[in-house]
Amino acid sequence: ELALRLARQIDRKRRIEGLRGRLRSGMAAAVRDPLTGAYNRRHALPWLERRLAPGPRGRKNLAIMLADLDFFKRVNDLHGHAAGDAVLCAVTERLSAHLRERDLLARIGGEEFLIALPDATPARARRVAERLCDAIRATPVAIPAIAAPIPVTLSIGVTLVPTGPGLVAPDLQSVLAEADRALYAAKARGRNQASFCTRSAA
Ligand code: GH3
Ligand code: MG
Ligand code: MG
Repeated sequence: ELALRLARQIDRKRRIEGLRGRLRSGMAAAVRDPLTGAYNRRHALPWLERRLAPGPRGRKNLAIMLADLDFFKRVNDLHGHAAGDAVLCAVTERLSAHLRERDLLARIGGEEFLIALPDATPARARRVAERLCDAIRATPVAIPAIAAPIPVTLSIGVTLVPTGPGLVAPDLQSVLAEADRALYAAKARGRNQASFCTRSAA
């Protein structure tokens, strides 16, 4: 009787653990882009909102970057959508390799990424943005099914937002619009580069 009850208890515990595990991985999957594994918009926007809110932490800059692959339509047109997908995965890996655990990397559109660095000085934001462009430019992406590696470049718009006690939290949409204008400037200047919003140009 006791052995039977124990076996039933153990069985029940296993089932609960299984459910809990599936729930946890389901929740983790809900905030990831299934193609690249990067975070998605659903994770990124609340993450930014939290970081922009004036918390107990001291005054710090949050660097926000919008990164967009250059002439990506051509990659699809020349090599097919599957190759384009493989390029997106390779780009995600490279970006991620140049970021820290506490930075944010999200794929928020087709070939558009949102990157955020907490506690960034203007110099570090510039260094990282340039390093990211370089990481994409430096080595064409090798894809098994395609003879020649595919060259790709990245444009980045950067804005630096001061946050901290006593500062009014800026509106997320206007911060993103600022980064988007900087991205547009990077495209207009010839792509393959980072551009800083004028307020953050220091
Ligand atoms: P620009 O330098 O101005 O950004 O030019 P672009 O060609 O990168 O920009 P455009 O917005 O004209 O085209 C983006 C292309 O990205 C169009 C679409 O075919 C491709 N794309 C978007 N999402 C995906 C995806 O998930 N997989 C693949 N393979 N391609 C995608
Ligand atoms: Mg593009
Ligand atoms: Mg785009």
